[in-house]
Amino acid sequence: MNAARIVVVGSYATGLTMKVPRIPCAGETLLGAGYRVDFGGKGSNQAVGCARLGAQVSFVAKVGQDSFSDMAFQLYRDEDIDVSKLKKTSDAPTGVGFIVVDDKTGQNLIVLDPGANELLSAAEVAEAESTFRAASVVLTQLEIPVAAAQAALACGRSAGAITILNPAPVRQLTAATLASVDILTPNETEAKVLTGRAPDCSIEPQLLGRELINSGVKQVVMTLGENGALLISASSCQHFPAISVSAVDTTGAGDAFNAGLATALAHGASLEEAVNFAIVTGAMAVTKEGVIPSLPNQDEVLAFLQQNKMPTPPWLAAYS
Ligand code: ADP
Repeated sequence: MNAARIVVVGSYATGLTMKVPRIPCAGETLLGAGYRVDFGGKGSNQAVGCARLGAQVSFVAKVGQDSFSDMAFQLYRDEDIDVSKLKKTSDAPTGVGFIVVDDKTGQNLIVLDPGANELLSAAEVAEAESTFRAASVVLTQLEIPVAAAQAALACGRSAGAITILNPAPVRQLTAATLASVDILTPNETEAKVLTGRAPDCSIEPQLLGRELINSGVKQVVMTLGENGALLISASSCQHFPAISVSAVDTTGAGDAFNAGLATALAHGASLEEAVNFAIVTGAMAVTKEGVIPSLPNQDEVLAFLQQNKMPTPPWLAAYS
């Protein structure tokens, strides 16, 4: 079997979570509990997701020189991810998020410092050229400067790889950026903002997809949460229903979906087959708490497909 090589260009951030009896007001000190340190960042999550599904992953990103980046490097060693293009800088700390969760209502308050993620430059991404040359898929998101994501797409294109942009968090993109995207994977809200609409406006997702295609993207795979996903190209629109599961925590569903999509494509699956696979990995992710713990590996996917009497993609069967 050929190695399915994926380059993920994106973010890493450590999540520091604490539960409180109520959200504190300005100037107030409260006692919290259940302090937790979690791996986060969409780039990192998606890189781990792809590696667990059997892809050979290189992660291009930037972290600080601190104990949080040491933890991240340990994660990538454990998950067998190539970090030869993962940069360390002393100019900013590793990205971090402080998350305070109200114990009773589940309401949260989040502040983020992207730290080193914001320092990843287009030139540094382009320096990873040899890594891009071996890739069949390049996957990036927008938790890094747009110029860095754009460089990832451009490098992917010139290497002949399939380029995937998960436009999260959503930012305005130029026509040149959109034109270098083979597959854009927004959720519905992101698709609304990308087409210049308010995030809460009411509109048919098919129309959003069509507009995105008209703006230069080759194909759109729009995720619709528990309603599954739409695959929109210049000539067609196909709906893929979600798999009915008992959802425990939907954070990370998008990361698991993108990882499934990228990994199936890297193994030579068609886009329809890849969306079907992503529907499976997205559904599996919502059945567990957290993001990294909920990203499925090959064995878990194989067992899930068997339990649900669903066919196993030939490339995945080859691993068993
Ligand atoms: P994001 O987290 O980026 O907003 P979505 O919420 O649209 O992404 O979820 C991504 C994918 O995960 C969906 O397209 C769907 O396939 C799957 N998914 C999400 N929520 C559920 C759910 N409750 N049940 C089954 N599948 C789900």
